[in-house]
Amino acid sequence: MTTPSPEVSAPPRRITILGSTGSIGCSTIDLVERQPESFSVAALTAFSNVALLAEQARKLQPELAVIGDESRFKELKEALSGSGVEIAAGRDALVEAAKRPSDFVMAAIVGAAGLEPTLAAVRRGATVGLANKECLVCAGDLMKAELEKSGATLLPVDSEHSAIYQVFDFDRRDAIESIILTASGGPFRTHTQAQMKSVTPEQAVAHPNWDMGAKISVDSATMMNKGLEVIEAYHLFGIEGERIQVLIHPQSVIHSCVAYVDGSVLAQMGAPDMRTPIAYSLAWPQRMEAPVERLDLAAISQLTFEAPDFNRFPALSLAFQALKSGGSAPTILNAANEVAVAAFLDGKIGFLDIARMVERALEQVPNKPMTTLDHVHAIDAMTREAASGWIADFTPARSTNSGVAASA
Ligand code: NAD
Ligand code: MG
Repeated sequence: MTTPSPEVSAPPRRITILGSTGSIGCSTIDLVERQPESFSVAALTAFSNVALLAEQARKLQPELAVIGDESRFKELKEALSGSGVEIAAGRDALVEAAKRPSDFVMAAIVGAAGLEPTLAAVRRGATVGLANKECLVCAGDLMKAELEKSGATLLPVDSEHSAIYQVFDFDRRDAIESIILTASGGPFRTHTQAQMKSVTPEQAVAHPNWDMGAKISVDSATMMNKGLEVIEAYHLFGIEGERIQVLIHPQSVIHSCVAYVDGSVLAQMGAPDMRTPIAYSLAWPQRMEAPVERLDLAAISQLTFEAPDFNRFPALSLAFQALKSGGSAPTILNAANEVAVAAFLDGKIGFLDIARMVERALEQVPNKPMTTLDHVHAIDAMTREAASGWIADFTPARSTNSGVAASA
C-alpha cells in the first residue's frame, strides 16, 4: 500500500496521539518523553480516563486534549484549568484532534470507534502510525482510496505488520511468494475446547508475552487477533488471503516473515515490546533509540513453531472466510467480534461464544457491497444491533460476575 520513500529524512516533530491513555498510547508517550528535543505534541485524545489524560497533557503541553465521553467534559476542564491546553469532548472533537496540523498521527484508539479520526488524519495527508487494525478491517477499501487521494503515508504499528514492512521489497512485489504472520498462540494455545469453555475474562486477558489492552488481549486468546491481522495484511501489502500463512511461534521473537520466489525467507526479530514497532513508525524513515530489552538469542536458545489449529480456534477460520467473501463480511466480522468481546469481558457470555456470535453474524447479516462510509456505518450498526440481541441466547459457562474494564 505505502512504498517507503527514503528521500524523506527528518523524523516527525509534531505528533498527535489518538488513544493516548491506552497501552499503545502510553508506550508512545514513553518514547516521546525520552527524546523531548525531537517531538512536540499537537493533540492527545482518550475516551474516559480523565485523570491520565490530564496528567499527560500537563506534562506534554499539547495544543488540544479531547475526551471522547462528553459527560466528562467538565471533569477534564477542571483537571486542566490554568494549564493553557485547549479542551474539547465528543466524537466530532476526536475528528478535530486528528485534523489539527501535525506531521505524525498515532492511531491507537481501539475498535471501529477509531475509524473516523484515523480517516481524518489520512485525508489531510499526514503520516499515520496505524495500531488501530479494526479500522482497516472494517473499511479497508475506503481507507486505501483515501490514502491514494491524499498521498498520506500509512505505517503499520502492529508488530507483525511492522516486521513485514521492514522486509517487504515494495519494488519487487512479483518476487514475493507469501507472507508468514507469526502468532504467539495466546494464553490458551495448548487448551482443549473443553478447557476453553470455562475460562474467565481474567485468564483471557493475561497474555503470556505481551502487555496489551483488554480487547486485543481477548482477541489474542481467541486468535481473532490473528484473523484481523490477516485482513490487515491483505490491505496493507496487497497480498491475497491464499498467500498469507499463519505460524504459531510461542516465543514471539520472530515478528513475521516475507517469503520470496528464490526460497529466501526474510524475518524481523526483536524482544516482544511494542516500543520497537512504535519507535520504527515514529522515526521512519530514520531509526531512533528504544529502551527495549536487547535480543539475546543464546539465552533464549530455542525458537519453536507449530501449525495453527483451526478447529480449536474457529475465529481464525472465520476471518479467512470473511476476507474471501469480501463485501461487508469483514465489517460484520469486526462489529460482531467487538460486541462479543465486550459481552465476554462483562461476564455475559462464555469464551467459546465469542466465535459463535461472529459465525452467526456472518451467516445472518446480509453481505452487501460497500463503497461509502455510510455503508460501513450502516453495516456496522446493523451487526451490533443484531449481535447485542443474541447475548441473551448465550450464557457464561461459569458465572464469575467479575467483568474486566474494557478500555481506559
Ligand atoms: P487500550 O484499550 O489499552 O487503549 C485504547 C485507547 O482508545 C484508550 O486511550 C481509550 O481511551 C481509547 N478509546 C477506547 N474507546 C474509545 C472510543 N469509543 N472513542 C475514542 N477513544 C476510545 O488498547 P490498546 O491495547 O492500546 O490497543 C489500541 C489499538 O492498537 C487496538 O486497535 C489494538 O488492536 C492495536 N494494537 C495494540 C497492541 C498492544 O500491544 N496493545 C499491539 C498491536 C496492535
Ligand atoms: Mg499484532
